[in-house]
Amino acid sequence: MATHFDIISKIPYDKGRNTVFRFFARALPINHIRLKPCPYNCDSIPLDEPYLHPMLTCPTIPTAVKIKAVEFIRLISGNNIPGLTLEHIYLDNPLLINTHKFALALSIILHKLWINYSKTLYGHDPPIWGEFIPWCVKTYKIIYTNRLFEQIIKFEKYKPDIPHPSKDEIISTFHRKWTPPPSLF
Ligand SMILES: [Zn+2]
Repeated sequence: MATHFDIISKIPYDKGRNTVFRFFARALPINHIRLKPCPYNCDSIPLDEPYLHPMLTCPTIPTAVKIKAVEFIRLISGNNIPGLTLEHIYLDNPLLINTHKFALALSIILHKLWINYSKTLYGHDPPIWGEFIPWCVKTYKIIYTNRLFEQIIKFEKYKPDIPHPSKDEIISTFHRKWTPPPSLF
């Protein structure tokens, strides 16, 4: 039987896999905020849990984002678990039907949450919630377009240096070529 970290090791999205691994291993660089005020400036002070709160349960994370994130995970993974919320997205959930697809969807969501959170924690920038789900959908799609995968990741990483026509060309090319995968695993 696959262990928790066996499942994580098969996530086909390297940045998400790294984030999920570090999240469940409690190895993200956020332990130093334990027993300190929430960096999102909510009323939950001090933080006795620097993982669940800032990544999943902080009231400053818009409810719409939490709901759409759960919808995304359900849709992508095919796991229609009643009562599922962001706080319940653990890989050892006995109700999971397709664990590997669930892990992939989870990795995309958690990585985006981590990007937003680390921007606030280390860059002192406010999180960007408006593009949250479109970013997750785009990320999911590019995982299945290997030839373009690296180009778009480069675009995400070096956005300011790439002219817009180039960005639009990359995005439209991958939209033209992408078809829903019948089954990955
Ligand atoms: Zn908070």
